Amino acid sequence: MTERRPSLLGRTLRDESARPLRVSPLTAQLLTVGVDIGGTKVAAGVVTHEGEVLDQVRRETPDRSKSPQVVEDTIVGAVLDLAERHEIHAVGIGAAGFIDAERANVLFSPHLSWRNEPLREAISSRLRLPVVVENDANAAVWAEWRFGAGRGESHLVCVNLGTGIGGAMIVNGTLQRGRFGVAGEFGHMQVVPDGRRCECGNRGCWEQYASGNVLVREAREMAAANSPVAHPILERAGGDVSAITGPLITAAARDGDPAARELFEEIGQWLGVGIANLAAAFDPGTFVIGGGLSEAGDLLIGPARDSFSRSLTGRRFRPEARVVQAQLGNTAGLVGAADLARPFARRFRRARARARDRRARHPGGL
Ligand SMILES: [Zn+2]
Repeated sequence: MTERRPSLLGRTLRDESARPLRVSPLTAQLLTVGVDIGGTKVAAGVVTHEGEVLDQVRRETPDRSKSPQVVEDTIVGAVLDLAERHEIHAVGIGAAGFIDAERANVLFSPHLSWRNEPLREAISSRLRLPVVVENDANAAVWAEWRFGAGRGESHLVCVNLGTGIGGAMIVNGTLQRGRFGVAGEFGHMQVVPDGRRCECGNRGCWEQYASGNVLVREAREMAAANSPVAHPILERAGGDVSAITGPLITAAARDGDPAARELFEEIGQWLGVGIANLAAAFDPGTFVIGGGLSEAGDLLIGPARDSFSRSLTGRRFRPEARVVQAQLGNTAGLVGAADLARPFARRFRRARARARDRRARHPGGL
């Protein structure tokens, strides 16, 4: 069999999600796969048009070389695994980093050694399925807007608090990717002049004050300084400072530990300052707070709301946006990526039907 199909599947895709979503009932029935690429693992799931995950696989990216080849092989393996059990019509891939406006190339990824990597073509040609590549925060906001905490909102901003801060925005059903596809890097807005040094090279970036990394760093500093207030947290970690993690601090805060609660309060306040800046720029109706840190719920979002109200420009003379916790948890990226691939599924089905007809008419040729 000749290998000509990838051009049809890979290069002719247009950016459907730049327009308000219009999915025909026929397309809606088709299953798509969403892939979420993390630093050390790949999660892939079969997703319905209602955002339900029917089946899911997780694969480690084994040798941690993080080379494009290793990650590509892992993605292809995971999708093929799912394809044995389901009829799949398109694949959406969510990856941290800068994705070009064509949604084909990973320009830069912070935890993978990818520099201008043509991921869409590579995966599409191997799977022979339409593939779309999306920034992970864009995929997550899409899922929250379609199926989660942002449903029905015309102007939605999502802030994802993981190791850093990722962000994305939807206006009237359209993802705002920016001219070059790299909008939404809210974590690197400067909130403190000459503040803490950030991995990006600048100082005082928002994610140095409100992220999962900050929570862990602050708790460990407190414990390492042998502060008595941190003793209960240290005890939970078995006396090992390096065993203090985000989930451990969250559990302590839930149990009422004052030091853990204080940490969330402080981070929540910085979160509120940042989203007040975002409100000044974008005036959304709803902020959805997602990512691992958001699982602390009101411990974090309560102080964030207070600080947001105090910092909001024109406060008391303008309507205030809602600040709510994300609903889809850690499947948001996967569900959103799968849904963003859905518009390509029908075209693929048509193209495949045409190819079948051709083969039936001209057996032996393409
Ligand atoms: Zn930065």
